[in-house]
Amino acid sequence: MNIKPEEITSIIKQQIEGYDNKVESVDSGTIIQVGDGIARVYGLENCMAGELLEFPGDVFGMVMNLEQDNVGCVLLGDDEGIKEGDIVKSTGKVVEVPVGEAMIGRVVNALGQPIDGKGPAKAAEFRPADVVAHGVIERKSVNEPLQTGIKSIDSMIPIGRGQRELIIGDRQTGKTAIAIDTIINQKGQDVICIYVAIGQKQSTVAHIYNTLTQKGAMDYTIIVSSTASETAPLQYLAPYAGVTMGEYFMDQGKDVLIVYDDLSKHAVAYRTMSLLLKRPPAREAYPGDVFYLHSRLLERAAKLSDKLGGGSITALPIIETQAGDVAAYIPTNVISITDGQIFLEADLFHAGQRPAVNSGISVSRVGGSAQIKAMKQVSGTLRLELAQYRELAAFSQFGSDLDNESKRRLDKGKRLLEVFKQDQYEPMPVEKQIIIIYAVVENHVMDVDVARIKEFEKGLLEFMDTHHKEVGEAILSKKVLDDEIKKMLNEAIEEYKKVF
Ligand code: ATP
Ligand code: MG
Repeated sequence: MNIKPEEITSIIKQQIEGYDNKVESVDSGTIIQVGDGIARVYGLENCMAGELLEFPGDVFGMVMNLEQDNVGCVLLGDDEGIKEGDIVKSTGKVVEVPVGEAMIGRVVNALGQPIDGKGPAKAAEFRPADVVAHGVIERKSVNEPLQTGIKSIDSMIPIGRGQRELIIGDRQTGKTAIAIDTIINQKGQDVICIYVAIGQKQSTVAHIYNTLTQKGAMDYTIIVSSTASETAPLQYLAPYAGVTMGEYFMDQGKDVLIVYDDLSKHAVAYRTMSLLLKRPPAREAYPGDVFYLHSRLLERAAKLSDKLGGGSITALPIIETQAGDVAAYIPTNVISITDGQIFLEADLFHAGQRPAVNSGISVSRVGGSAQIKAMKQVSGTLRLELAQYRELAAFSQFGSDLDNESKRRLDKGKRLLEVFKQDQYEPMPVEKQIIIIYAVVENHVMDVDVARIKEFEKGLLEFMDTHHKEVGEAILSKKVLDDEIKKMLNEAIEEYKKVF
């Protein structure tokens, strides 16, 4: 064969031109081990952490561990039918969830797929579930209240839009109830709500869905559900999916409220995954990065600067404690990441003080600046009065004679606590809260029997509604109790007392 040099160059040139096309290949690997929802795959050289892998039978997996000669991943579906030796393809994408207006009113799973039997939801776009939170420069401080409609919280532990407030307490102390009431209270407030159920019973989620539908709250709410029967990776993903849907609205300048019910079970799901992936266990067998797990989630709650539209995500994470132990690993972690906590106490709950908020150790570190002035005026001394009441109540159990001043404090504290009792699903607008708290703080009800305080409250608010609507309206428009409103309030309350 006689090849001329010009021919060789043209062949080489041709080959170089075609080079790009030829090396385009799908990165694929082989399963070397599978079981318990975990798979180890050999041969995926260009794989990223968090990347989605495609398994046979339309099952997807998420890469968690990048090791020297294999990757460890968790399966987001059923591992039945997947066996060692199967081929796995990389997708080049990380886990994404659908976001958009179409999600509102729907119940979806941790991957954003509707599970309410109402057909597919048309997503505006897909967004990666795990992104880095907004930075310091892109935020501003909390300045607008997020009313929960619960008297003891709005007055003493106020929450602002963009804040992270932990709800913490033993099992069955009304944690979920507070979150649901807050969602119901957002009706007409231009807040989109997202309820993320992690490791809850399916019946609980169905009950919440029915309640929210009944109250008309599903019109602005998304439920992301990963129940106890679902695999750990799905429970792990659910809160990230929820907050990603929230960020879509926040980026449009809207306000979002997200409830994570609850993060204790989220930590347990993550622990399960980590142990199966053979990550080293640390304190309480949780992996060392469990703090980072929750901090990167809660940091995504934010109040954005005006330049970015001023939207916000307010987060209400829930943590379940064991026998009131807030010093356990996961509770202390989440307490330190949030801007305050609402502490619910089993003793109070069983004594009939519901919601069972312990005002002594509950705090809100930033919400005060968002509270409306009128509320600040009436609630300024509440914490102190209740603290004094608690101290005296313990003391007076010895049956010793009390001086008049102590008796007065005891009487007032009892009436305050009575006013703070509030039924479930009955959030109260802020102007009504102000009226009734004003009546107690300004000593208008000292001559009303403690047992009749609830009756008095109900009657007074109805009376104000029918005869003095202008007072509530004035409070709402002026947002501050000036002498004129105070005079109106005093007169109206005394007028009602005559007929009570
Ligand atoms: P779990 O630990 O099981 O998640 P939880 O702390 O979320 O419980 P909830 O389910 O909210 O507690 O409430 C427990 C029970 O107390 C429910 O039956 C609920 O209806 C009732 N409850 C909650 N809040 C109130 C309230 N303010 N008034 C009366 N009953 C209430
Ligand atoms: Mg609950």
